[in-house]
Amino acid sequence: MKHEELLHRCFRCGWCKMPLNYADFNCPSYLQYRFESFTAGGRMWLIRAWQQGELKAGERLAQILFTCVTCKNCVQTCAMAGIREQLVEIFMAAKGELAEQGLVPPSVRDYLKAMQTHGNPYKRPDAERARWAEGLDLPRYSGQEYLFYVGDEGAFDELGIGMARSVARLLGKAGVDFGILGEAETSDGNDVRAAGEESLARALAENLTGKLNDLGVKKVVTLSPHAFNILKTDYPAWGGVFAVEHWSQVVARRVRALAPAGPSLAVTFHDPCYLGRWQGEYEAPRALLRAVPGLTLLEMPRSRQNALCCGGGGGNFFTDILGHGGDQAARVRVREAAETGAAVLAAACPLCLKMLDDAVKAEGLGDRLAVRDLATLLLAAR
Ligand code: SF4
Ligand code: SF4
Repeated sequence: MKHEELLHRCFRCGWCKMPLNYADFNCPSYLQYRFESFTAGGRMWLIRAWQQGELKAGERLAQILFTCVTCKNCVQTCAMAGIREQLVEIFMAAKGELAEQGLVPPSVRDYLKAMQTHGNPYKRPDAERARWAEGLDLPRYSGQEYLFYVGDEGAFDELGIGMARSVARLLGKAGVDFGILGEAETSDGNDVRAAGEESLARALAENLTGKLNDLGVKKVVTLSPHAFNILKTDYPAWGGVFAVEHWSQVVARRVRALAPAGPSLAVTFHDPCYLGRWQGEYEAPRALLRAVPGLTLLEMPRSRQNALCCGGGGGNFFTDILGHGGDQAARVRVREAAETGAAVLAAACPLCLKMLDDAVKAEGLGDRLAVRDLATLLLAAR
């Protein structure tokens, strides 16, 4: 297995389930299950035992490995230099090896099958991929400065569609020259890779890369931090020759102060793992919020590098393998957001948006806290 030589170097100190400020437990799967086996360290020991033949792989090991939502909290806090940077890569490799042995939990198997068969987890035809843009009069890409890539959630998820429309309008208002792919868009593969299916992710990537290279795309701006991550980090090795930014970065560079806002508004911001811990961008969304007059930004105790994941990564947004209940990461997160006193919880990722919106409903917090996508919030201020 990839990185097998690193497995014995975890010494089970347990720091990997905490944030850097030790505010609370910060590994979503540990929060949910409260067994050490569901932490990074627990997974390292189980994988080592499995690889050395001390443990037989089965359904339980598959559940433990596939409930890692690839949030990278452990990568921040692991005490052991040398393995720290590779923890999530090790877990993804282990998921891949389990898949080769046919040990994939049913919901993950269904998700991957939908990706293979339909090219998206919603099982929708590509002909519907441009519906999100109806009525916006957006040009197809034909040499503009940027290609705006919305991905599966921007094309098919109800809240994601709203976010994609707001981002497109915001890019237009910010004077960004961009076009879209519409029906020609295909999946980026980030969450397929996070679920351990490296070869399918690579096939999706090469398909999308081929289209973008054929069109001569030089710069991509993405709706989702997940797409931003794989296009920026992995696509260059798979033939991608374009620069990639998240929409918040592109807009933040162009927006200094937004038009006078209405009444004062207290907002807290949820850092998406794939924008923050994976790509190191914490400032652009906050710069945009600070540009809104009358808006007060209230930080949660766990923010930036210490942010608690919404639980939507690693394919869990589609597979739900992490499960539900009061210890679900998204529900813990919205309780933390409500405690800041903010009236709005802003999200910059379509997956976070839905996870948090559902969690506010499950917690019955709707009269205290509204989940809004950052782009729609900014548009309202212009
Ligand atoms: S990546 Fe996140 S969910 Fe996975 S082990 Fe690390 S902290 Fe836990
Ligand atoms: S912090 Fe690192 S060394 Fe310690 S238990 Fe977690 S993975 Fe192992």
